[in-house]
Amino acid sequence: MDHVVMKHKRTTLERAEKFISPLYFTDINLYGRVYPKCSPVTSIQHYAAPGRIPYEKAVKGDYSPAQVGQSFGPSWSTHWFCVEIDVPSDWMGEEVRLRWNSNSEALIWINGQPIQGFSGENNRTDFILTESLKDNESHKTVYIEMACNGLFGAGDNGMINPPNPNRTFTLSKAEVAVFDRAVYNLIREVELLHDMAQHLPEGSERGYQALYTVNQMINAINFEDRSTFEKAHMIAQKFLSQKNGDSQHVIHAMGHCHIDTAWLWPYAETIRKCARSWSISIRLMEKYKDFTFTCSQAQQYEWVKQHYPSLFEEIKKFVKRGQFIPVGGSWVEMDGNIPSGEAFIRQFLFGQRFFQQEFGVTCKEFWLPDTFGYSAQLPQIMRQCGITRFLTQKLSWNLVNKFPHHTFWWQGIDGSKVLAHFPPGDSYEMKGFVKEVLYTVENFRDKGRSGKSAYLFGFGDGGHGPSEDMLERLKRMKDVDGLARVRMSSPDEFFSKVEMEDGHKLCRWAGELYLELHNGTYTTHAKVKQNNRNSEFLLHNVEFYATMAALKMTANQNEYKYPAAELSRLWKLLLLNQFHDVLPGSSIGMVYEDAHAYYKDIRESAGRLISEAQNALIGSLEEKAADAETVTSVFNSLGWERVEVVCVPESENSTDMPPQNKRKKKGTQVDSEGNSLAFVRVPSYGYQIISLENIPAPVTASILEGDLIKLENNKVMAVIDKIGRVIQMSIKGQDRYRNAVCSKNPANQFVIYDDIPLYWDAWDVMDYHLETRKPVTDLLEPVRILDKGPLRASVKFSLKIGKDSTLHQIIILDAESPCLHFETQVSWHENHKFLKVEFPTSVHTFEATYEIQYGHLKRPNHYNTSWDSARFEVCGHKWADLSECGYGVAVLNDCKYGYSAIDNILRLSLLRSPKTPDADADMGEHSFRYALMPHLGSYQEAGVIQEAYNFNCPLSLCKMKVMPALLDTSSYFSLSTRQVVLETVKMSEDGQGDLILRMYEAFGGQEQATLTTSFDFKQVVRCNSLEENDPTLESDSLNLGTAGRSVTCTLCPFQILTLRITI
Ligand SMILES: [Zn+2]
Repeated sequence: MDHVVMKHKRTTLERAEKFISPLYFTDINLYGRVYPKCSPVTSIQHYAAPGRIPYEKAVKGDYSPAQVGQSFGPSWSTHWFCVEIDVPSDWMGEEVRLRWNSNSEALIWINGQPIQGFSGENNRTDFILTESLKDNESHKTVYIEMACNGLFGAGDNGMINPPNPNRTFTLSKAEVAVFDRAVYNLIREVELLHDMAQHLPEGSERGYQALYTVNQMINAINFEDRSTFEKAHMIAQKFLSQKNGDSQHVIHAMGHCHIDTAWLWPYAETIRKCARSWSISIRLMEKYKDFTFTCSQAQQYEWVKQHYPSLFEEIKKFVKRGQFIPVGGSWVEMDGNIPSGEAFIRQFLFGQRFFQQEFGVTCKEFWLPDTFGYSAQLPQIMRQCGITRFLTQKLSWNLVNKFPHHTFWWQGIDGSKVLAHFPPGDSYEMKGFVKEVLYTVENFRDKGRSGKSAYLFGFGDGGHGPSEDMLERLKRMKDVDGLARVRMSSPDEFFSKVEMEDGHKLCRWAGELYLELHNGTYTTHAKVKQNNRNSEFLLHNVEFYATMAALKMTANQNEYKYPAAELSRLWKLLLLNQFHDVLPGSSIGMVYEDAHAYYKDIRESAGRLISEAQNALIGSLEEKAADAETVTSVFNSLGWERVEVVCVPESENSTDMPPQNKRKKKGTQVDSEGNSLAFVRVPSYGYQIISLENIPAPVTASILEGDLIKLENNKVMAVIDKIGRVIQMSIKGQDRYRNAVCSKNPANQFVIYDDIPLYWDAWDVMDYHLETRKPVTDLLEPVRILDKGPLRASVKFSLKIGKDSTLHQIIILDAESPCLHFETQVSWHENHKFLKVEFPTSVHTFEATYEIQYGHLKRPNHYNTSWDSARFEVCGHKWADLSECGYGVAVLNDCKYGYSAIDNILRLSLLRSPKTPDADADMGEHSFRYALMPHLGSYQEAGVIQEAYNFNCPLSLCKMKVMPALLDTSSYFSLSTRQVVLETVKMSEDGQGDLILRMYEAFGGQEQATLTTSFDFKQVVRCNSLEENDPTLESDSLNLGTAGRSVTCTLCPFQILTLRITI
């Protein structure tokens, strides 16, 4: 008779755990028998490569013998190994594996093809040489490319520390081994039963059934008698085949491999990470026919296409089979806050076009699992780019409030809705464990409305993706009583089912998806933000000038060609740098060396392209033509007339000025730097030949009592104190001269905070930093007048802002300008300090307005609820505003994205100083600009939106030879209303020679707009942002299809409208 023991739960669980432990009792437990036989590889030859070289070059290297136990380095270096393998002849019929552990990332190459990645950290050390050894398979030569970095780069003691350049990695294993599949299967079964016993709720009978079953299995196994393995397996099977009820939650499992396009490693390493990771998944697809793998970021595919063509062909094959699934539709998984509206669209335009061209696939879901907050304009942009679904999980990182949904409709600022899903397991890196499956169901917030969820499994961030263990675990949970049903699925299958079965029951979330964490990323690495903003405007300018030049030249049959390929190259560089660890400032220093080199390329190339296009547009065709004149022209690449003071290039006033332009120089001014200034009036999307005869109402600078300086023009008056603070700013012509600045607290007050987050240094600013506010008042040089008018008045002062940090600022008021401009230079050498500038206003309101992509939104400026107070630091673009009825104050900037508004105070975040993962982040010299603009009426009526564009997109001056017949001024596009902004003018991507115009309603109200062009066109149609005809877009409100020079459209609040014009 059997001895029946009343089992103790903890000891029984531990008994099972020890039975499959890779750490304890491995000499006698099940785990220790997975590899019953092993044998060292025959020989290892090593070659220290001069960098990340291709295979063809690597095999020609100078190889010398190496052995297990040897270390290789330093960090980021590459080592190639030629490995000879001889499998012992008595292993016939066995599954044989090569086991390689260099404790780093590595890639095995066979016959010149990349076959599979290795990584020591997650035990990815096996490569299956054969599932059943045959006669002719016993000898093999393979190459292994070892990268001297781990999955998470080369940091010391802690994941996000800056890389240690001198790390070495030890080759600890290089052998062939027999893999005992029957033992492996038993391990998976014991693990599953143990996990159910451990994690099912204490009151669950099923958990105890699992406990007794696993105990029975262990009792049944006798290692001396393999027939007992089958007996144990049958015990497990009996339990696992007990099925679920029909009402169970369904988990749609999808393989995934989050590869940060750069983060704790540079872009160049990511290229190899893609090959290592994706080849692993391809090998798994060959073995597991239902295994699906979701893979985003067209840029990574393009890299693989360039560097690993044979792997790319394999990917194509598995895309056709529906196993390798391109997702997301974007060029990279970009930051969700900072890119401009047009950059967001280009992420999809380049991404979707790539997926269409290479795979014939248009992604239907936007895939951004790991980004730090999501703009309220994304739903509309997604819908205009062929996408109606959205997946992330990052809001599970919220510090304060738990987001109320996992499956819901997300509505943007224009009212567009997309179906959103957050995998309720709160991760994109599941491993196939029972615990995760139970948590997924337990945590799901939309129970009753929906009964399904997505489950993304695979190692991530540093790549490597799904493993055999994960697939073997999941396959055993297809339909087991006590657990959710688990099936391999695809995003399309999952979302389609939700749409069909649950769509009408789901709740809605309107506005942004704000992440209550990582809000230092609006500010960290200030120069990346500055280069991003600048590059976005540069490419906008290139496209406008090049389009107009191309149109003119088509007519004149000139040589000029629209630089489509070059534009595409530059856009891709910009889009790449918008990746969600690069633009936010959370990467290691090496990444920023690459990023800034790309920005330099964009800056230089765009400068050349703009100059070529402007010359083609109005320059003389023959440079040396006798009657050609040299003039200075001013170009405006924005959709409204601009009246501004500009700096004229050096020789403007000299003798090469054409006679008719040599007018009396009344009204001109030479500024304190020696630049000639001129006052210009340039039409919408057009140019003007500079004439010096425009004379504005002058601006003046004067000294008042008490070391105060007054700057005044016909629009505003400002008083500045000794340390550069604005103590008064008033709009002129008002009945009473209201002070826009709070009478008790001066504006333009620099403040510095302690900025010590809890862990994610470059990412996080915590709410408690606000309690450490210290005004910067240490004067180095008091304020003094630089320029006195009549075109420009300015003052200058300097402050000490820390032990080694200083700040110099010039405050400028130009003739006829409604705002004060602040040109700031900071020498920044701080440790965990945060510099902001604050503007206490005289405005009373309960909300602040912030510009976002193609529109704006309001957020509270108080801390009523936990949701309000969690938004103590928020993202905005070119302007933010505090307004009451009839009056307001806006702050504009040319490169900043962080704001904090509390009551009547608007703060702009300037510089941070985190030390990980980049110890040198933001150290050094910075220059940036912002502006203060008080206004009557609303910010819309007062022109804040246009002023902010002007501030970011200086008029372009250029000296060139032109034909005398050239008109003094010309406008290519104009709009009947300032409420609609024509943002983008470009040629169509398909090379058909059509014009693409993109405009949006900027005020947040319906408006009819008539767009007038300077040229005739044959046809206008509405298209989507991918420049395709889209039958789902309504065109009723447009008088389209007609030839002529104007088109009238009605736009709804914040609507983005793209027109395709055939000339
Ligand atoms: Zn990421």
